[in-house]
Amino acid sequence: MANENADRPFGNDHDILTHLGDDYAMYLDAVVPPIFMNSLHVTPKSEIDSDVPRKFTYGRCSNPTADLFERKVAALEKADRALSFGSGMAAISSAILACVKHGDHIVCVEMAYGPARKFINEELGERFGISVSYVRGDDPAQFEEAAKPNTTLFYLESPTSALFQMQDLRAVAAIAKSRGIKTVIDNTWATPLYQKPLTMGIDLSAHTVSKYMGGHSDIIAGVVAGNEPLMARVQQVRELYGGILGPMEAWLATRGLRTLAVRLAAHWKSADIIARRLAAHPKVAYVRYPGLENDPQHELAKSQMSGFTSPLSFHLKCDNSEGREFVRRLTWFNVGPSWGGFESMVNLPWGEGDRDKLVRIHVGLEDVETLWGDLERSLEKIVN
Ligand SMILES: *Cc1c(COP(=O)(O)O)cnc(C)c1O
Repeated sequence: MANENADRPFGNDHDILTHLGDDYAMYLDAVVPPIFMNSLHVTPKSEIDSDVPRKFTYGRCSNPTADLFERKVAALEKADRALSFGSGMAAISSAILACVKHGDHIVCVEMAYGPARKFINEELGERFGISVSYVRGDDPAQFEEAAKPNTTLFYLESPTSALFQMQDLRAVAAIAKSRGIKTVIDNTWATPLYQKPLTMGIDLSAHTVSKYMGGHSDIIAGVVAGNEPLMARVQQVRELYGGILGPMEAWLATRGLRTLAVRLAAHWKSADIIARRLAAHPKVAYVRYPGLENDPQHELAKSQMSGFTSPLSFHLKCDNSEGREFVRRLTWFNVGPSWGGFESMVNLPWGEGDRDKLVRIHVGLEDVETLWGDLERSLEKIVN
C-alpha cells in the first residue's frame, strides 16, 4: 500500500517521536505498526544470486519491529544508525566491546553506573587484559592526565545517576579526537530528547530503554546510536554476542517513545518544584539537581542539555540512623533501584558523605503536591 505521508520532513523531535516509521503501519491502514514476531525472512528465489545484502534475513541480525524503534532513536540522536539490545547493559557492554581490544586502556568516570564499572573492571580488566583508570570527570584535564599511549576509550556518563555530575562533552570529545581515542556515553538520564552527544563530538550514545524511553516500568531494553563505520562494529558485536532486542519489547519501546516528550515535560516540572522546596528545607543539607541555578555545573548543564529529567538526590541533616527511617515513612515513594517509569521511587545510593544520608528520588507522574506532602511529613519527623 502507498505511504501517503512519505514526504514528511521529520525535522522536529516531537514529529520523530510520534510519526517516524509510520510506513510500517500502512498494512491495513493501521495507526500503529504490527509486531513482526518472526525469526526469519525468506529471500525470493529471483534474488539468490544478488550481492546486495537483504535488510531482513534472520532475527538475530535484524528485525522490522526493532528497526522501527532504531530509526526513531537514530533520528533523535542525529546518528547514522541506532541498534537496539535486550537490556541497557547489553547496549553498554556492546558499545564498549566495539571500541577496545586486548591490551588497551580505558578512562572511566568514577560515578558511572555500577554494573558498567563492574563490566569494565571485572569482565574486561581481570579476564581480558584491558586496564582502566577512574576520573571524577568534572574537569576535562583529568581525562588528558589519565590518558596513556594505549588508551582507546573514554567512558562517560553525564549526568551520573546518583550525584548528577556532568562532563564537558565538547571538551572531552575534542581531547579524545586529538589522540584517536573513542568516546562512549551513557545518555540515559537526559534521554536523546534533552541531550544529543553526537552533535558534540561523542562517538557512541548508549541508553537503557528500561527507564524513560520505555517509560512504564514494563520492559528491559537498550539502544546504541552512532555513525559509520563504528556502528558496523557494534552490529558485528550484536550479531556475535546475540543481544538483539526482541520484537515485543521493541514494539513497547516505540510506544514509550510516542509519549516521551509529554512525560518528560511533566517529570521535569514536578522535579523542579520538589528540588527547590527540598533545597529550602531546614532538614536538607543540599540538593543535587543540575536544573537548579546554584548547582555548581548548572551553566555546563544548560550548554549541553535542552531540558532536565526527574531523578535527583539530596543529603539529609540528621543522625546516621535516621535516613532509613525517613525512607520507611514515605508512602508514595517505593523503594527500588530503578527509575524513569510513571511512578515515584526512592533509594539510598552509594555516593558521597555518610551512607544512608544521601537520598535519591525519582519524581514520578503523581500529583506534585501529593509527593511534596509525603516528603515534607517525613522530613518533619527527623528529630536530630
Ligand atoms: C538502569 C541503568 C542502566 C542499565 O540498564 P538495564 O536495562 O537495566 O540493563 C544503565 N545505565 C543507567 C544510568 C541506568 O540507570
